[in-house]
Amino acid sequence: MPIPTAEELSRRARDAAARCGVDLDALAGDSPVTSPVNGRPLLSVRRHTAADVEPAVARAGEAFAAWRTVPAPLRGGLVRRLGELLRAHADDLATLVTLEVGKTASEARGEVQEMVDVCEFAVGLSRQLYGRTISSERPGHRLMETWHPLGVVGVISAFNFPVAVWSWNAAIALVCGDPVVWKPSELTPLTAVACTALLDRAVADTGAPAALGQVLLGGADVGEALVASPGVALLSATGSTRMGRTVGPRVADRFGRALLELGGNNAAIVTPSADLDLTTRGVVFSAAGTAGQRCTTMRRVIAHVDVVDALTDRLVEAYRRLPVGPPTDEGTLVGPLIHAGAHTAMQEALTAAREQGGTVVVGGGRRLAEEAPDAWYVEPAIVRMPGQTDVVRQETFAPVLYVLPYRTLEEAIALNNDVPQGLSSSIFTSDQADAERFLAADGSDCGIANVNIGTSGAEIGGAFGGEKQTGGGRESGSDAWRGYMRRATNTVNYSGELPLAQGVEFPL
Ligand code: NAD
Repeated sequence: MPIPTAEELSRRARDAAARCGVDLDALAGDSPVTSPVNGRPLLSVRRHTAADVEPAVARAGEAFAAWRTVPAPLRGGLVRRLGELLRAHADDLATLVTLEVGKTASEARGEVQEMVDVCEFAVGLSRQLYGRTISSERPGHRLMETWHPLGVVGVISAFNFPVAVWSWNAAIALVCGDPVVWKPSELTPLTAVACTALLDRAVADTGAPAALGQVLLGGADVGEALVASPGVALLSATGSTRMGRTVGPRVADRFGRALLELGGNNAAIVTPSADLDLTTRGVVFSAAGTAGQRCTTMRRVIAHVDVVDALTDRLVEAYRRLPVGPPTDEGTLVGPLIHAGAHTAMQEALTAAREQGGTVVVGGGRRLAEEAPDAWYVEPAIVRMPGQTDVVRQETFAPVLYVLPYRTLEEAIALNNDVPQGLSSSIFTSDQADAERFLAADGSDCGIANVNIGTSGAEIGGAFGGEKQTGGGRESGSDAWRGYMRRATNTVNYSGELPLAQGVEFPL
């Protein structure tokens, strides 16, 4: 199928946004939004400036004053309605994700499904924001913890998960009693305004305070103002380690709370007992899916010397068959890179890998350059490396998979951990002892460690995030909600006496 014309993509974007309730006239401005599908403008939007941040945070602060005293299960009602609207508009939102990010229809639908899933999770959570009761050492005393709403949550998100990351934060923050001010990637404003329009509708339908969810379109300058705002109690920032290195210290400097979800450099260890068919499928989805533009994309395979050649042959064969093309085509599995800069970064990484002793065994070339000269379609690449050189230790946000050999499991785990990032990891093995060794305290040092699945494609039920230069934050499921609330420890004395802790005497 030919790549749709700029007019056709623009029409699809307008229609989908309008169906979600976006006021396209109010949105119009002079900042073009480019679709990676054809590299051409979809439409132009009005951006906010840094000066718009404080008024938005102030409005959110007013909403907080009302929202924090609404019982959590009733707050869940807002998120239930949001989930219903997201489900009803799943096709529209997925269309916008495809047009703005270049994800295939299935992956875009999957990302929207994550929003629905986390809303359902958050609705249940709204009745489970439990504190502990703790035995007091003093007779006639009760010790307990209560969890209270924290305040305004600022969300800065990356281009590659333009809606899921917002929902991981927003659905949890809203049931926890916190309003959200969102600064999406400057590359993906349409998905952001569409989600916000649906949240506005959910707010109106449920009678919740206005300004519980606001969006500020803009670049790093708007993000920086949000980071600096003293009215933002929690700043949740998803993006590159470079961004986090700036944001983290600035939030810490004003004693705010930061949740950082930064870059990854994710590996799979493949042991001699691995099922190579299953491994091949798991590796190819994680390494080439989303054109290598997931934070959890597999960037390294660390394969035992006995299987590294056979595995590489299978991977190369699978890569040769990968349908690369417009994500608007049904059969496509690998869509475009986000922009020319991503293509340059990929080519530079391949050049560096060759200089550092690597051999590109498949891929790396550009596709569809004639049909779409402004778009950046590439063949996912596999590079055999003699060891973990400098380029392998960096995150290149493109589909480049480095294959490294190992001899002992200790060596493989050491290689897995010997990178600055610590997001996701996996082991493919049929040996239970090897799997357990990988999951143990001295095994993988990542926030995500999987067995017999790839590094990407996490479910919302678990806490998501990673260690080291990935930033240490956790969001989405499990008990990640605690990051969005403040804890109070309460000691209640019903004894009629006043015994002091630790046996301290203070006679009056
Ligand atoms: P990016 O760092 O360029 O931008 C991310 C966001 O930060 C954007 O909204 C941007 O405007 C904003 N920003 C940039 N500089 C800022 C500053 N100084 N102050 C405040 N805000 C600033 O990242 P990207 O290219 O959009 O996304 C790709 C990166 O994000 C990759 O490194 C990827 O691994 C990472 N990522 C991580 C996760 C995760 O959960 N760990 C998820 C998705 C993406």
